[in-house]
Parts: sequence; C-alpha cells; structure tokens
Amino acid sequence: MIRKWFVFVSALLMLAGTAYAQQAERPAIATTKVEGTDNVYIFRNVGHQAMFVVTNDGVIVTDPVAYGRPTGGQAYLDAIRKVTDKPIKYVIYSHHHFDHIAGGKVFKDAGATFIAHHRAKTRLEQLKDPHTVLPDEAVSDRGRTITLGGTTLELSYHGLNHSDSTLVMRLPKEKILFVVDTIPVGTVPGRGMIDFHPFETEAFIKSVLALDWERMIPGHPGPGDRLGTKKDAEDQLKLLQAASAEIKKLAQDGKCWEPAEKEFKLPEYEKWPGYAAGLPFIARRYCGLWGRGT
Ligand SMILES: [Zn+2]
Repeated sequence: MIRKWFVFVSALLMLAGTAYAQQAERPAIATTKVEGTDNVYIFRNVGHQAMFVVTNDGVIVTDPVAYGRPTGGQAYLDAIRKVTDKPIKYVIYSHHHFDHIAGGKVFKDAGATFIAHHRAKTRLEQLKDPHTVLPDEAVSDRGRTITLGGTTLELSYHGLNHSDSTLVMRLPKEKILFVVDTIPVGTVPGRGMIDFHPFETEAFIKSVLALDWERMIPGHPGPGDRLGTKKDAEDQLKLLQAASAEIKKLAQDGKCWEPAEKEFKLPEYEKWPGYAAGLPFIARRYCGLWGRGT
C-alpha cells in the first residue's frame, strides 16, 4: 500500500515538474502555422502576437508587436524568412496602440506598404512615435479588401470598441479572423479598458459575431495558445454586460469611485486568467460611465 502511494505521489510530482518545465521553457518568440491552413501563421513575441499570410505574390504582415523590443521587428522578419523568401507587400495595423504596432521599420525598409484605419493614421501623424512607421494608406469606415496571390483579406470597421481605430481582419476562405484586444480569448480584460467605449463595444462584438468565421486569432495569446471561437466572443460580451450591470447599481447608489471599486466582484469569472489584475480597470471604466456619464 505504501509502495502504491509512493508510486502515485512520484507520478504526480513528475507531472507537476513537466508542467513547470514547459512553462519555464516557453520561448519568448514563436511562429505557428494555423492548423488546417496552407499559408496562415501566427508570430508571437512574449505576450503579443500577430497574423501573417504567405501568398504566391508576397506576404501580408499585420502588427509588428515590437513595443519596447528594439530587435522585435527584425525577429518578426527573420521568422517570416524561415517560411518564405517572397517580398513583404503589406503591413496592416489592427489599431493605433503602440504595444501592437511599434517596430515596423524593417518591413518599411523591405518595401512594404503600411495600411491602417483612417483614425489610426490621423492619430499616429499627431503623435509621431519614433518607433512606429506611419501608415501609407488609410482605410475608410467602409473597409477595404486586399487581394494578393490568390488570397483575399477583408478589412472591416465595426465602430468604436476597445479603440476608435480597430480594423477587423477576415480571411473568408479560411473563415479566420484577426481581432486585437477587444475580444480577449478566455481572459478578463484589464489595462485596455482605459480608452474602451462601453456601449459601442457591445455593438462591435455583436457585429463581429454576425460575420462568417470559425476561428479567431487574438492579439494576446489565449489560455494554452488556443484560438477563439464565437462562444468566446459571446462569453466576452456576457462578461462586459455583467460588469456594466453590477457597476451601474453601485454607481447609482453613489458608490463610484472608491467604494464601488472595492465592492465590485464578478464571481462567475473568478477562475479566468487576469481576474484579479483586470477587475480594478473594469470597475474604473464602468464607474466612468455610470458614475460620471462618460
Ligand atoms: Zn489596444
């Protein structure tokens, strides 16, 4: 009996050790081909990631994800070069936030055309961030379709959301979306709430749910690096609606900011990654809405 226990406990320890080692050995940078596709890849740099698509006539790159990572753009280009030597034709920005779009100079030097939503272009021209390449072309609210080497990529605008400049990217043939920040996969939103538009985001998620897609690549890796599904988008919408309703009560009881921020809980989401860290940001943003009217 004792021996059995010993074997059991040893096995548990080994399992725990393996899990720990896997976590510790996770490389900072990784490229993954999206399962079931011929040419769609995810490039990840620590906690940020972007999609790139290889076509016969060149490569469509999205967010450079190199904020605070001086060699990040080059690492991204090197990762693409391991897959193809086709020219880099486009870099498309998901929205104007630097943590996703800084670091594209190597792609500019390689001759790429930079594309962003028109409001991202205007904002970036005002800010002149030294590490961020300015867009060459602006996409209007009506969207744009890119076709290159047999691949179609639709860029669409669905109103204000986590930012005011988000382009939803959809590969219609593959039924894959690339949406950054507004629809986290299985995690609680956090700092990104700072310039989040509460009502419009609910409409944004509903509008994205109405598109034809099966899998979503998020801008930050989800639990286990899994891709998102429509269920994840529905879950995120429910989380935001629950948070909004909860803070609305507290705000109308006169409890915003401090008491509401202390009392606010979302027990249903307690086990989701980012819960403890994200809660104060969510409370602050919805107190802004229901406690102040903003
Ligand atoms: Zn963002």
